[in-house]
Amino acid sequence: MQYIVYTDVDGTLVDENYSYEAAKEAVEELIKREIPIVFCTSKTRREIEVYRSQLGIKDPFISENGGAIFIASSYFEFDYRYDYELSSDDQRYRVIELGTRYEELRRKLKEIEEESEGTFNIRGFGDMSAEEVAMDSGLSLQEAELSKMREYDEAFKVRAGERARIFEKIEAKGLHFTVGGRYCHILGDNDKGKAVKILNALYEKKYARVKTIGVGDSLNDLPMLRAVDIPVLVAKPDGRHESIEEERGIQIRKEEGIGPLGWKHVMEDLILRR
Ligand SMILES: [Mg+2]
Repeated sequence: MQYIVYTDVDGTLVDENYSYEAAKEAVEELIKREIPIVFCTSKTRREIEVYRSQLGIKDPFISENGGAIFIASSYFEFDYRYDYELSSDDQRYRVIELGTRYEELRRKLKEIEEESEGTFNIRGFGDMSAEEVAMDSGLSLQEAELSKMREYDEAFKVRAGERARIFEKIEAKGLHFTVGGRYCHILGDNDKGKAVKILNALYEKKYARVKTIGVGDSLNDLPMLRAVDIPVLVAKPDGRHESIEEERGIQIRKEEGIGPLGWKHVMEDLILRR
């Protein structure tokens, strides 16, 4: 039986200072045991590539809230459906595209703002300079540049009181929204769960029997958590867990430990100490 680990990044594998130090040893141990670690995050491909190369992870990944799945071309030995191939850094990927293209999302968000005749003040990453994104998010300037290279999801800020009305408009335009740790997101008919299910099927073909673990910290992880055998929430910086399971009928394991520390704990408990 093969374990597959799906993990959110912000607030889960990395803490509020974007450090994965607390989880690093557990990551290395999983790599040694050839257990796939699949990033499943609102981050962009370019941001994920940095973490993957720093940690030495070569497994597929899911970018921008399920917008696309990137699989190294030689990763699965059998044929499967994909949309296009892409070369990036020294990698060649097969890409399974699930989301709506970024330009289209930007256009719809602008329409919503214009139709509100000045009521809504929507600030997307596409409206901000890299410096602004860095200041606002705490990312370094270089990381902010990578996070602006968006393909299937626009991250944006609005005044708190306007959120619900803007979300309504987004749905009315046939698009969807999600709320992450820091930003709201507009996206197409994709979510983390749909992407996880596609990869689950590919892994089942590869290994026959798999056991999937999903680790997250926020509401936007719920579709991923629903698509795995063992859903896990790590604690938020205040030590509490996102309260999402009671009203949504899903039994989630709440791991003690904030972000990457909780990540380490759960991997030790489920896999490494067995
Ligand atoms: Mg998160």
